[in-house]
Amino acid sequence: MTEMPKNPEVDERIVKELQSIVGEKNATAAKHVRYAYSYDMSFVLPKMPDYVVMAETVEQIQNIMKFANKEKIPVVPFTAGTNIGGLCIPERGGILLDLKRMNKIIKIDAESHYAVVEPGVSHGQLAEALFEHKLRFGWPVGPPSASVSSCAINHGIGGLNARYGLNSQEITSMEVVLPTGELVRVGSCAIVEDAWHSTLPLPKLDGLFKGWLGSTGIVTKLGIAVHPIPPVLKVFTVSCNNVQDMYSYMNNLANYEICDDLTAVSWWLAQVPIPYPYREKPEDAPEWFSFANTNSFTEKEKEAREEIWQMVVDEEVKKGTSLKVTEYPEEALKARTQLPSQIVGSTKNYCKMAGAGISWPGTFTPANKWSPVYTEWKRILIEHKLSPSVRMSMYRGVHYGMLRAMIPFNKQIPEENENARHAIVECLKVDLDNGGIPYKPPVDFGHEINKRAHPGYIELLKRVKMMLDPNDIMNPGKLAI
Ligand SMILES: Cc1cc2nc3c(=O)[nH]c(=O)nc-3n(C[C@H](O)[C@H](O)[C@H](O)COP(=O)(O)OP(=O)(O)OC[C@H]3O[C@@H](n4cnc5c(N)ncnc54)[C@H](O)[C@@H]3O)c2cc1C
Repeated sequence: MTEMPKNPEVDERIVKELQSIVGEKNATAAKHVRYAYSYDMSFVLPKMPDYVVMAETVEQIQNIMKFANKEKIPVVPFTAGTNIGGLCIPERGGILLDLKRMNKIIKIDAESHYAVVEPGVSHGQLAEALFEHKLRFGWPVGPPSASVSSCAINHGIGGLNARYGLNSQEITSMEVVLPTGELVRVGSCAIVEDAWHSTLPLPKLDGLFKGWLGSTGIVTKLGIAVHPIPPVLKVFTVSCNNVQDMYSYMNNLANYEICDDLTAVSWWLAQVPIPYPYREKPEDAPEWFSFANTNSFTEKEKEAREEIWQMVVDEEVKKGTSLKVTEYPEEALKARTQLPSQIVGSTKNYCKMAGAGISWPGTFTPANKWSPVYTEWKRILIEHKLSPSVRMSMYRGVHYGMLRAMIPFNKQIPEENENARHAIVECLKVDLDNGGIPYKPPVDFGHEINKRAHPGYIELLKRVKMMLDPNDIMNPGKLAI
């Protein structure tokens, strides 16, 4: 990792100024602290921030932004840094702003089913608090320590996506500090201070801060819809020998909209840990496994869902596909139904054999393109000695869903890091050419997206960015514009 030569006098002045805002212990330019924020698990190469600051109040964040904007110092918001796309790596140095101490659950409205959280509230923390009220949210298959709001504002994915859509579709209101330091609100809380229930029917200004990877402002409070927990759980599991048969089953079942989560994983993703380097699947093992999680309020409701599922299975069997109904061990199902989970959220499961590297092409892809894209991904990844450890999940109906490969690799060895980057970017190009769009995209992906984009779209992005962030200090470089 290279570090630009720095001017100790300038540094000292800036540290002093930042300390005057957040307190002496909460701002530093110490190298060992900066180092800890210079890398993540992905193939993105490390870069050092110049300062690390921990904020605790909205007012502190406003003052930091006013100061940084005046001095034109980049600011990178950070909550847990688990995004695996280099999204918190400071492309141009500057202030790494760690928000994990802002971890209050401000409100749980158990009657109207929404919650209001600060950015440092983790999935584990909110799950525990909501459970007291028999409520839930779409918990990702990621680390329980990651932030609820960072996942939601970056179009993250949780375990209720088949029923309610992306976690960003659950956002009901927002409070945001702009790059220039002003405090704004969007959604109902903009009109009545403690009304956090809906972004509609106002103009959807929350879009100015969703999917922008922290490059348009710092979210300081987030309202999200939460949902009751129907107590009767039933998970339907099947296997298929090829991707086309699995797609056919999932598409058929998704038509009936009876699942909370409808996901399939390739044999390689079902292994703990994921094989690195690539290892051949045993010939007699199916290539795909699917679990369809359903939650019902009564046994009768469950039986009705079961009847629909059985009808779908019978139809698929009649088509002559390779689909087989399977029984999963209780323990294995827990990993899919008891989220957030240390078991599946633990990166050691993914990285054990791989020297700590993990990256993905994570995309929203038209479901009828899953099969051709997976076939190409498999070829590319195996050529690079990487596992085609792929997941497919349906979102709210059938027209698109998640297609993602979770790829471990050895980050300690530069050639292996580059090998992973090359393979993953190649996979991404195939997906983009088939109409897929990557979520939480690393900068490399941003370039590929923008190459294909309508010029008017890029112009609009630039204008919005310029309007909100005239000095280009908010997580600069991330959208590759
Ligand atoms: C093994 C594994 C599995 C995973 N599975 C999933 C999954 O199933 N679904 C899923 O969605 N993700 C998954 N992830 C990715 C990741 O865990 C989630 O995206 C997580 O919610 C990110 O939260 P974080 O606190 O780590 O965010 P960070 O990495 O700290 O930040 C993410 C982005 O948000 C920006 N940001 C942070 N705070 C703010 C703020 N307050 N205002 C504005 N911008 C901000 C940052 O600058 C950065 O661009 C997985 C990760 C791993 C390692």
